[in-house]
Amino acid sequence: MTADTSEWFAEAVLAWFDRHGRKDLPWQRDPSPYRVWVSEIMLQQTQVAVVIPYFERFVARFPTVADLAGAPEDRLMALWSGLGYYARARNLHRAARLIRDLHGGAFPAAIDLLLALPGIGRSTAGAVLSLALDQRHPILDGNVKRVLARAFGVEGWPGQRAVLDRLWTLSEQLTPTRRVGAYNQGMMDLGATLCTRRAPACDRCPLSERCIARGSNRQAQLPSPRPRRTQPERATLMLLLVDPAGGILLERRPESGIWGGLWSLPEIAPGAEPRDWCLSRLGVLPARVEMIGARRHSFSHFNLDIRIVRVQLDSMPACIADDRDRRWLSRGDLAALGMPAPVKAILDAFQAGRPQQNGDVS
Ligand code: SF4
Repeated sequence: MTADTSEWFAEAVLAWFDRHGRKDLPWQRDPSPYRVWVSEIMLQQTQVAVVIPYFERFVARFPTVADLAGAPEDRLMALWSGLGYYARARNLHRAARLIRDLHGGAFPAAIDLLLALPGIGRSTAGAVLSLALDQRHPILDGNVKRVLARAFGVEGWPGQRAVLDRLWTLSEQLTPTRRVGAYNQGMMDLGATLCTRRAPACDRCPLSERCIARGSNRQAQLPSPRPRRTQPERATLMLLLVDPAGGILLERRPESGIWGGLWSLPEIAPGAEPRDWCLSRLGVLPARVEMIGARRHSFSHFNLDIRIVRVQLDSMPACIADDRDRRWLSRGDLAALGMPAPVKAILDAFQAGRPQQNGDVS
């Protein structure tokens, strides 16, 4: 790439950012590395409008990295509840503790130190250091990949190593030496607001004059989509166990695996018998067992069909005491625990007397 091209590109992005870029997002008001880091982690796989209320609640409760490091995990997961991709929250927590323990609570300002923390990849580290401290680092999130693939006609799915390397090289070459934070924010904003996946607004784009996708009318083909594969299907039975006092049994899931560390309903295999589970785990036989509905939840790599069985107990089980991984909860307590979105939907519907169905499962 010639110096003229990279200079033109950066100037075009910066001029557009000055006029149209987003400058009043909550994390932009006081762009400390800690706040930018939290926002960048929340923004992975999640849209700005969804993130804003979560971000504001999160930094109000944990205003510094030390507050986050000292937080109980349950409190953190409850604040994250509904944002999804919960490994992000656990990594954020682990990284905050490492910053406290290894760096005396001072947020690292060197990219190598940031990359050594859990959950921080090259693009996130570059975004934190450029947006908060104006250090010169390229970024390559989903929006930037799309803009670069279209503007420079990069063929191939960005998940492939060779394509990704090409996009990183472009991003490095184009990143200017001054106003790096503004440039990187401008690139993210361009991808989010103009160069969108389905309907790019090329007429208003500052790159349109030299954009290869626009010049060849291939906006819809670039970047190339992930090669198609059918999503595997999985199924589970969730037990909505209700004790005579109206309490509902929740169990904490193992740290690894889906929804790791979150509170969820007990699960059994689709062919298993809820009565057997009650007898072996709680030492009682239920008064009533009934299928009350089904929901479908899509993960990035499989679909989960959840059938919901209400299990009514007419006597208190012997193991009624709460422990670290099991709680009998009354209505008012449910909001205090971090739980996966579909489990929260099941409990909300149950408490409101609504049908347990999101329409996908027959
Ligand atoms: S001209 Fe169109 S396709 Fe090219 S970068 Fe701009 S919005 Fe995207």
